Amino acid sequence: MKLEGLIAAQNRLAVSHPSLPVLASKRFSVEAGIGGEERVAEVFRKDSLPFEHRIFHDLSPSSVEQFQMDTYFMTPWYGFVLEVKNIGGVLEFKDNPAQLIRTREDGQRDGFDSPVVQLERNQELLSAWLRGRGIQLPVYGAVSLAYPKQIVAVPPAKTKILFPNLIPSYIRSIPQQTKKLDIETFNWLSGELLASHQRFIPKPICESYRIPFGDFQPGVRCVTCGRIGMIKLPRTWQCPFCETMDHCAHQRTLLEWFLIFNRRITNRECREFLGVDIQTAKRILTSMHWQFEGTFRNRSYIMDFNNIVYDQTKRIFVFR
Ligand SMILES: [Zn+2]
Repeated sequence: MKLEGLIAAQNRLAVSHPSLPVLASKRFSVEAGIGGEERVAEVFRKDSLPFEHRIFHDLSPSSVEQFQMDTYFMTPWYGFVLEVKNIGGVLEFKDNPAQLIRTREDGQRDGFDSPVVQLERNQELLSAWLRGRGIQLPVYGAVSLAYPKQIVAVPPAKTKILFPNLIPSYIRSIPQQTKKLDIETFNWLSGELLASHQRFIPKPICESYRIPFGDFQPGVRCVTCGRIGMIKLPRTWQCPFCETMDHCAHQRTLLEWFLIFNRRITNRECREFLGVDIQTAKRILTSMHWQFEGTFRNRSYIMDFNNIVYDQTKRIFVFR
């Protein structure tokens, strides 16, 4: 969602817009993060571990505080949390103050929040989440660097650093105590974790980067050629550039609205953003079955992010 918002924003700003470099560098780091997590996921897909386990990617259980685990590996004996980092260059893990320093090839140095602190926080919050359900389970953790091109000059004092292909053998080396969860409890716990998952919804781009609303080009985007300006025909949309017909085009453009501007939308805003008349806007907004607030004239519809799923084959978000 974060990446989707950044791409949508980039594509709607003029090429000379002063915010573009900031958005581009943020997009680069989000893509690197996703790439790293996918690499770790790939290792788990290839290696079948010979005992009962569940693997959760990008899990955000709701607890006293919200927390997010890049990868969580759970067995009836223990839990294992992985914090995945994809930051290129020579890395130094500092303890006091906790920080990650990266030196690039050209000698430039950048500081990052310590993944060790992030990992320890996740382990504590997960343990608390488990205790809240009457479960005592040891929770181990490690930081995974996605690529061996990441060179560790100074490792953290107490935390294990793993490249992805070392993860399975490390997991095999974790002792399995005699005390373990019975299979019913283990399955129940897996279900509880999924049920507790809260989807991460990023702040609108306008708000995060303080970009004025009027700087963004309105219009419906064509999913085939990426250009903005699809034309409304009865029951469908047509792209004037590549002639693609798409009866769902307004849905993805509405998602862009929410990611760029605001969690809610009025009929007037919908009209202006999609370039349609008042009746069409009303029909479109009603068809989404969103909750709304306010009376007819200033009614605003509230986006329901739970209705959106990621289509892995088309690599786009779609409304259910
Ligand atoms: Zn097109």
